[in-house]
Amino acid sequence: MPVTIIDVITILTQPAGSRLIVVKILTSEPGLYGLGCATFTQRFHAVHAAIERHLKPFLIGKEVDAIEDLWQTAMVNGYWRNGPVLNNAISGMDQALWDIKGKQAGMPVYQLLGGKCREAAATYVHADGASPAEVAENVQRYMAQDYRHVRCQIGGYGGRKPRITPPEGAKSGDYFDPRSYMRRTVKMFEHLRAAVGDEVELLHDVHERLTPADAIVFAKQLEPYNLFFLEDALAPEDNEWFRRMRQTSTTPIAMGELFNNPAEWLPLIEGRLIDFLRMHISQMGGITPARNVAAMAAMYGIRTAWHGPGDVSPVGHAANLHLDLWAPNFGIQEWCRFNELVYEIFPGTPEVRGGYMYPNDLPGLGIDVDEKLAARYPCEDEIINWTQARTPDGGPARP
Ligand code: MG
Repeated sequence: MPVTIIDVITILTQPAGSRLIVVKILTSEPGLYGLGCATFTQRFHAVHAAIERHLKPFLIGKEVDAIEDLWQTAMVNGYWRNGPVLNNAISGMDQALWDIKGKQAGMPVYQLLGGKCREAAATYVHADGASPAEVAENVQRYMAQDYRHVRCQIGGYGGRKPRITPPEGAKSGDYFDPRSYMRRTVKMFEHLRAAVGDEVELLHDVHERLTPADAIVFAKQLEPYNLFFLEDALAPEDNEWFRRMRQTSTTPIAMGELFNNPAEWLPLIEGRLIDFLRMHISQMGGITPARNVAAMAAMYGIRTAWHGPGDVSPVGHAANLHLDLWAPNFGIQEWCRFNELVYEIFPGTPEVRGGYMYPNDLPGLGIDVDEKLAARYPCEDEIINWTQARTPDGGPARP
């Protein structure tokens, strides 16, 4: 008797700032279910509707076995495809089906992918500060906890609190000064290398805050500080500029948390124009496409560094971890340090000790959800301010 999908539940919860979306697929086999991350925190209602009104009716009655077939057919069932809302909904399905398959096999998902290349995934954490000295203190605090990789920002993305005077009547927004941010960040890394030495790996996220011309100068200016990687130096819309960056700088490049579509990452991999893949796995459609792109990138000498902030649910972090343990070309895993409440709501949330993220070796993704507790922290509606970025003259900018 084939096992079929009998229900799809969308779990929305906000225990730690970010609105999280998790899909639970119930099957015809009593007690057998799977969980998947569908978190698109800024547009969670749209993903919720896509799951409840479109994906769920499509899935009810289908056999759970055929992950690949369901991924392919779900992706084209709406005809228009590769957008963030539907990709996240499909990821919820995809990860839940991998979880179910692992439970059926009695194996962790990394075993289904091909087994472990490593016992744990090296992680990096985020250090910020208002001054280079404060950032250095925070880096040293992480080093004392045995983290060997730290992302360093000064004043958040774009280096906030610029001394700027917008024109009279300028609109409100999250103002930043791109060129001031460049100068302050270069000085920060100069200070950090003197303060924390060469043995800790330092990373930085530009968050697409620079023009392409400035981003190319910036990658060159950071060369002396030997970054582990420079992230999102360019926006996906400016992908073509990576060729110029490659020609002028040796700084390793990480890219991809905003990618939706294979057409965005294929040329960068084929051209060997980046060094690390940063995709948000639910945003690209789940474990199935992430496995495929990781395997392809391995052939080009490009490593993985999957997106791992607080707006990836613990289920998504578990999916990241299974890919990390398997991928021969794993590079690094971003880690957001969830609070205790998140661990209570999602038993089996990956644990990090000494800078390494460890699996629990339970079958499937090895994670569960306490739905009653999750429901006590409902998602709140909010107009998001930090994505209303503006440059000094008041013009709109990418966040
Ligand atoms: Mg980023």
